[in-house]
Amino acid sequence: MGPLELTEGVRVGGAVAPVVEGRIHVPLPFLYKECTPPRSRDLVRPMAAVIPNTTDAVRGLIMRDFVALAAAPTVAKLAHELELSEAMVVACLRQLHDEKRLELDKDRRSVLLAMPFSTHGSTVRIVARGLTWFAPCIFDAFGVAHLLGEDCEIHAFCPDCEEDQVVRVHDGEVREVDGVVHFPLPARTWWADDITLSCRRIHLFHSDQHVERWCQNTGTPRGKSIEVERQALLSREWYAGRLDPAWRWPGTVAFQATLAGVGLVGPFWELLG
Ligand SMILES: [Zn+2]
Ligand SMILES: [Zn+2]
Repeated sequence: MGPLELTEGVRVGGAVAPVVEGRIHVPLPFLYKECTPPRSRDLVRPMAAVIPNTTDAVRGLIMRDFVALAAAPTVAKLAHELELSEAMVVACLRQLHDEKRLELDKDRRSVLLAMPFSTHGSTVRIVARGLTWFAPCIFDAFGVAHLLGEDCEIHAFCPDCEEDQVVRVHDGEVREVDGVVHFPLPARTWWADDITLSCRRIHLFHSDQHVERWCQNTGTPRGKSIEVERQALLSREWYAGRLDPAWRWPGTVAFQATLAGVGLVGPFWELLG
């Protein structure tokens, strides 16, 4: 049987997933929010059968699990849910890695990062509904908070005084703000280095005084600091749409516009130097 000719919406779990330009658009509620365990199998089966792009389906389930379970699914779980061979799942994962749509661990078959989510612990945690998510840095933590779309607490660590800082996010707004986010190096370095290394340089501090003292004590370059509210806004825009299974790397020009959109302009914030 040849590929399905997709012209109209496809019924998935009692609702209709519309077809946009020959691709089935599966809104996220189909992927996780309305899925109770017995129904989720029913939802996933037709997806595997009809989604033209298997790689998108793999990515969709990864993002679904990050949101729902604070963990990435294994190759075996993905293969089972999508009724694919493990070899096919691994091939999809590698394609996603090559397309910058997630990052694989050294074993080239388990998910390390699906930004802004990370499978590895760091000093930045997001806590909601009794679960803990990890983010590579405070920039990404606000992205996680936005994508979860629910009240949460971001726990970070001021490197200067070595005290915990908690930022509460309520109704999508940052509450009880106390601090600044410091970027020691210009934006053009962010992707020049290993991304996790770049993330380890970006920190939440109690204040600019703490940034100043820490930079002097550690010989770290004094880059730029931004207010927590502006960081929250930037992260929201930067990571908008990441839960969409079909999300693609939008390119440097788009990210530059995102920075400019929150007022971050000038040589320090140029991604291409
Ligand atoms: Zn401090
Ligand atoms: Zn980061």
